[in-house]
Amino acid sequence: MRERTGGCLCGAVRYVVRGEPFHVGRCHCADCRKRSGSTYTIYGQWPRDAFELEGEPASFRSDHFCPTCGSHLGLLDEAEGVELSLGTLDEAPFELVPEAELWIKRREPWLPAVEGAAQHEENRH
Ligand SMILES: [Zn+2]
Ligand SMILES: [Zn+2]
Repeated sequence: MRERTGGCLCGAVRYVVRGEPFHVGRCHCADCRKRSGSTYTIYGQWPRDAFELEGEPASFRSDHFCPTCGSHLGLLDEAEGVELSLGTLDEAPFELVPEAELWIKRREPWLPAVEGAAQHEENRH
């Protein structure tokens, strides 16, 4: 089974995730802009039991981040599974491609759409 490792910028929080994500998305919503500090998030969703965490992230609602360096690891307490910020994977590029884009009405006009990804004005239903 495919195993991927990742972690924060300083290395205090590390994780391992097994198998392929059941969903990969890119979201341009106002919250994702804030949580990433960029203009979108790219995230992958895995079942909770595919994910192993090492270290102690701080949290704000279901957002988890490193208390030392501030890297946003993802939403780790979601009912449907963990939602990892894919930029925290060690592998770069990581070869996972978004199947959907959300909140494209907030996408920067200079940013092209992901080819083949479903385009949603707002949330995915
Ligand atoms: Zn850190
Ligand atoms: Zn979002």
